[in-house]
Amino acid sequence: MAYSIAIDGPAGAGKSTIAKLLAGKLGYIYVDTGAMYRAMAVYFSQNNVNPDDEREINAAVMNVDITIEYIDGAQQVILNGDNVTKMLRTEETGKMASKTSKYASVRSKLVDLQRKLAKTCDVIMDGRDIGTTVLPDAFVKIYLTASVEARAKRRYDELMAKGQECSFNVIKEDIENRDYQDMHREISPLKQACDAVLLDTSDMDIDQVIEAIEAVIEGKKKQIN
Ligand code: C5P
Repeated sequence: MAYSIAIDGPAGAGKSTIAKLLAGKLGYIYVDTGAMYRAMAVYFSQNNVNPDDEREINAAVMNVDITIEYIDGAQQVILNGDNVTKMLRTEETGKMASKTSKYASVRSKLVDLQRKLAKTCDVIMDGRDIGTTVLPDAFVKIYLTASVEARAKRRYDELMAKGQECSFNVIKEDIENRDYQDMHREISPLKQACDAVLLDTSDMDIDQVIEAIEAVIEGKKKQIN
């Protein structure tokens, strides 16, 4: 039986770190759906598409082809033939992705791609709408969250460790804005699916989160056996 695991939650909750580690442990394919919205955002930025003009966005989406490949288990995002993976993790791209992910044309194109990937193999998919929309029948659904302070602190520490000067308050404000946009859009807003297990990781380390999710998966397997 193919198992899919959905991990949703707000920006900075640690979804991708956790999903990547779990995928490695369980032998599943990790699908980072945020990277797909970010690749779309890269296209919009490179082509000066106005993120506030839905007609411009809809026209641009028709020219976008996004495919996913894996190199040594790491997801690569190919945008119109170019591997843009290394360009996706900037603050600017994240903001553009959050602004433009509200549009139906953007979402339907990417949700189709995500569902196709989940059909072909066991996946751990992380995002905002995986448990509610993309994979409503996922075997296990986790809603991973943490306080805004904890998420901003992790991001701040990460940037400082890389030697990038940054302000805790600016990071916190960016996270709050992104939470608001993602939770209040009309189509597939970020919310906990009714059958998802809530994990607040504010006071947990990575190993504790992994253990907690593994326990949920084991519990679910016992239920069906
Ligand atoms: O998770 P990440 O920060 O890479 O996501 C970037 C943006 O893409 C999010 O803020 C959100 O607006 C959008 N997104 C989404 N649905 C997903 C994944 C990401 O709307 N499944």
